Amino acid sequence: MATKLLLTFAICRLIVTVGLTLDPTELLLLGVDAQLSVDPTDVKAASLDFGLLIGAQPPLAVMHPASSQDVAQFVKAAYGSNFGFTVSARGHGHSINGQAQTANGVVVQMSGSKGGSGMASGRKPPHPRVWPQERFVDVWGGELWIDVLRSTLQHGLAPKSWTDYLYLSVGGTLSNAGISGQAFNHGPQISNVHELDVVTGKGELLTCSEEQNSEMFHAVLGGLGQFGIITRARISLEPAPQRVRWIRVLYSNFSIFTSDQEYLISLHEQPASQKFDYVEGFVIVDEGLINNWRSSFFSPHNPVKISSLDPNGGVLYCLEIAKNYHESTASTVDQEVESLLKKLNFIPASVFTTDLPYVDFLDRVHKAELKLRSKGLWEVPHPWLNLFVPKSKIADFDKGVFKGILGNKTSGPILIYPINKNKWDHRSSAVTPDEDVFYLVALLRSALDNGEETHSLEYLTNQNRQILRFCDEAGITVKQYLPHYTTHQEWVDHFGNKWDRFYRLKMEFDPRHILASGQQIFTPTNMASWR
Ligand code: FAD
Repeated sequence: MATKLLLTFAICRLIVTVGLTLDPTELLLLGVDAQLSVDPTDVKAASLDFGLLIGAQPPLAVMHPASSQDVAQFVKAAYGSNFGFTVSARGHGHSINGQAQTANGVVVQMSGSKGGSGMASGRKPPHPRVWPQERFVDVWGGELWIDVLRSTLQHGLAPKSWTDYLYLSVGGTLSNAGISGQAFNHGPQISNVHELDVVTGKGELLTCSEEQNSEMFHAVLGGLGQFGIITRARISLEPAPQRVRWIRVLYSNFSIFTSDQEYLISLHEQPASQKFDYVEGFVIVDEGLINNWRSSFFSPHNPVKISSLDPNGGVLYCLEIAKNYHESTASTVDQEVESLLKKLNFIPASVFTTDLPYVDFLDRVHKAELKLRSKGLWEVPHPWLNLFVPKSKIADFDKGVFKGILGNKTSGPILIYPINKNKWDHRSSAVTPDEDVFYLVALLRSALDNGEETHSLEYLTNQNRQILRFCDEAGITVKQYLPHYTTHQEWVDHFGNKWDRFYRLKMEFDPRHILASGQQIFTPTNMASWR
């Protein structure tokens, strides 16, 4: 009874706030009542994200769907109302700039609905369904990748392309691209999807693939949530490796470092025995990070003597590579790794190797998360900046940013690795630079309120602006990954020659602009004369 009253209150609030003319009883009749929550815990959780950069944006209510039909019915109600209200799908809320938030609208909480407090009805979204013969898995759009992995491993299978961190939702990463060290070989996660169920901004539930509703399929992949809510994804699988040989080697010369990275990703068409399965890298610009980094990876018996590697105390670069293997092929892995390492030109004394189960390798960032959480360093502002930099300009970027603007301070990891563009489907909505090879440069920094100016949010935010300005002035045509812009013109420039199609499909699939308004690409239409 109390829940019912709360819900009616929530719906009345919706009506008062946005002028929604839908009668509250109509929403109750739609069967969404038991899944609409105004529980302060739910509302607060949906009002924040990992970035913690913008103030809380409380939604009016949070919806906990148990099926595609629930989502479709709800979006249809939003679309059909005279004045409309916004509806934002939220995966795990790991965005940086409020992309999954919507003040004065409803958040559809896709992840965590299995145990969410709003599930008064006891109904839950479907569990992953693995098709071992066909080598794919059907998953709920809010499923976390860690749970996808757990389900597929029961059949000895695993997805091919990953993100570094697995506590992200399938719908959230497919709305961006989903990249990690496997992308050079398998492409981003959006290149490893067979089929999607999507609820459009009109509340229609469509199945789409290469063959069926193909325009929708490609638009949704990398589409920043603008065309529909992904409720099911069919993801390609491969036999799961059992173990991983994980290696780090160091460079003090940037051009040797990038030549080696580019060489390794050029091997993507070679047989598995003649290439690594994972190629990433990171930049080391200050001593503090070197120490942390050493303790988390290197054996205490084998400390890194940085001064001996780079007596000038300049910037170092770490290539990170991994080879997957099955226990039955363990005898050949040493040889395969050895012959690949021989072709590289890292600092000779700087090979650091570890060997671990495949799952532990994939889930490595979660370990770091637990450590940071225990020190109160996880729930802090994250002014992250992710850029795709064309290969032809990466040396200029090194000179201007790593050796210039950063000024020997990092406040967090800086990843850098190259990706093959031919592994990306140009029909998707994801935007990448116009060169065959481009680099991800990820400045994953945390702001701390510890009195040190260089750790402050203001300092790091200004530095991000300075980096973007530098790129602009130096003619380095970067594309933002996980983009964040606030003006129409910036979005048009970001999408470049994809903009016209993006706009046309938005008008077709979400004509009232009610979906994912937190991306700030389109303004919701709020006209009584709409229909
Ligand atoms: P949310 O933040 O909840 O949503 C992101 C956007 O997608 C929003 O606009 C939302 O409305 C929309 N959306 C969410 N679910 C759906 C759906 N079902 N259908 C349609 N639209 C939807 N990214 C990488 O590519 N590689 C990495 O290695 C990587 N590592 C990361 C590590 C950490 C610690 C963090 C915090 C982020 C990382 N990311 C990485 C970024 C991550 O992929 C994006 O932030 C992604 O959006 C997060 O997924 P989420 O489920 O939390 O999405």
